[in-house]
Amino acid sequence: MPEISICPKFEGCPIYNEKITLYSQQTLEIYKHNYCMAGEENYTKCKRYIFVQETGKPAPLFVLPNSELSVQEILQKMEQDNAQS
Ligand code: SF4
Repeated sequence: MPEISICPKFEGCPIYNEKITLYSQQTLEIYKHNYCMAGEENYTKCKRYIFVQETGKPAPLFVLPNSELSVQEILQKMEQDNAQS
């Protein structure tokens, strides 16, 4: 049976390490199952993974693996959030 690879970004990822208290453990487990631990074909579809790959910056907490925001929209939202704080 071929080995299923885990996302290489798992060590610092708050989803994988269940560090986001906004979501239940059950929800995080589903993300982990569907993205983080589901092989390259799936973890490369994770918006957090894509964001880090494209920007070299850590993905903000509001970005979930299945986020429909584009990388550009995420960057804009980060700028807006920074301007408000
Ligand atoms: S697949 Fe996404 S959520 Fe999972 S460890 Fe990788 S970057 Fe984090």
